[in-house]
Amino acid sequence: MNDKNIKLIDFHCHLDLCPEFTSAFNEIEQSIGVVAVTTTPLAWPVNRQKAQESSNIVAALGFHPQLVKSHKADFGVFEKYIDQTSVIGEVGLDNSKNFKDSINEQEEIFETILGFCKSRPGKILSIHSLKAESKVIGKLRDFSSQATCTPVMHWFTGSMTQAKHLLDLGAYFSFNHKMLKSNKGKELISYLPKDRLLTETDFPFTTNTSSISAIYESLTSTITSSSYLLKISEYDTRRVILNNASKLLSFV
Ligand SMILES: [Zn+2]
Repeated sequence: MNDKNIKLIDFHCHLDLCPEFTSAFNEIEQSIGVVAVTTTPLAWPVNRQKAQESSNIVAALGFHPQLVKSHKADFGVFEKYIDQTSVIGEVGLDNSKNFKDSINEQEEIFETILGFCKSRPGKILSIHSLKAESKVIGKLRDFSSQATCTPVMHWFTGSMTQAKHLLDLGAYFSFNHKMLKSNKGKELISYLPKDRLLTETDFPFTTNTSSISAIYESLTSTITSSSYLLKISEYDTRRVILNNASKLLSFV
């Protein structure tokens, strides 16, 4: 079997941030399985509708921690939509310089989301954690349940010890091509068990263009780098990622 026959996986993609976003959903190649994350629950209905028209895209219900300060009222509709999807994201905590002043509100919202998921089996969370890894780990321990919720750490930049704690909580880690250019990213992918690895693009933030072809290019670059670092063929790397994604998402 040729590499090309094995579906690529983009576990964290902001399709709706494309200027022509409705056509972006139609232009994604069938050979890529995409989790279309959202940054506000107000974007959910249109993302859901577009994803339902595609067999290879699933929409995720999200509330980006960087929007908590400016768009807190948006959170009011989150619970209304939560039973319409098994994938939640982008959610999490951002304690970096520009967003740390809203960290208390972010924590409150993240705890509430984890609480919603705790009573609803089968939720998968694409989690943003910037300078807030210990807090995220603490919240997952205190407010989440491994039995009902699987964390997928998006663009993780924490320490190996923190990664180990997250593995113990059942977490997966999604890698993009930019991460694998840094020593930290290289060290992380080599450290993690292969059965917890996923790929993502974080499109359009990691690409120089909002052209949809950048998604394919980013994913194939991530596969090439991962294959080198994992010391397995690109074919096997694609198989590992697809296999891991299939355990979480029925559509791939
Ligand atoms: Zn993102």
